[in-house]
Amino acid sequence: MGMGEDGLTVKKIRYGTVIDHIPVGRALTVLRILGVRPEGGYRIAILMNVESRKIGRKDIVKIENLEIGVEETNKIALIAPEATVNIVRDYKVDVKRKVKPPQEVKGILKCINPTCITRQDREPVTPVFRMVSSTPLEYQCAYCGTIIGEREILEQLSGIGQ
Ligand SMILES: [Zn+2]
Repeated sequence: MGMGEDGLTVKKIRYGTVIDHIPVGRALTVLRILGVRPEGGYRIAILMNVESRKIGRKDIVKIENLEIGVEETNKIALIAPEATVNIVRDYKVDVKRKVKPPQEVKGILKCINPTCITRQDREPVTPVFRMVSSTPLEYQCAYCGTIIGEREILEQLSGIGQ
């Protein structure tokens, strides 16, 4: 076997989650959204900028010994709408899911309106956003009605300016 795509591919995992078809450069943001850190004891493999028949180039994330649930899966859609989540059991893909942007997002996005109640220090209120459009992705703050789009969502979840 040559050193083609297979030469780089990490060996199969026995049990865990493989997240495929992530846009190039967003693998670490996916891990951040899931709250998965190496300190948690998980072995994580990240492949960046690999060939994809479906989307040209892509990132792939493999997390050993962790099965991510549907709710977590759908949060990934906020920055990787084409992603697929494969749950691997005994070396085989047992469950395959397409991500779907959640109707409601609690906690992980911040309102961009500085006077919004969720931005006040005195009485911290957990931000809640509801989807108003899926293409392009738009969410509306449940408290003040401010709308945030794909660019703000990506910036916030990538940790830019935090
Ligand atoms: Zn707001």
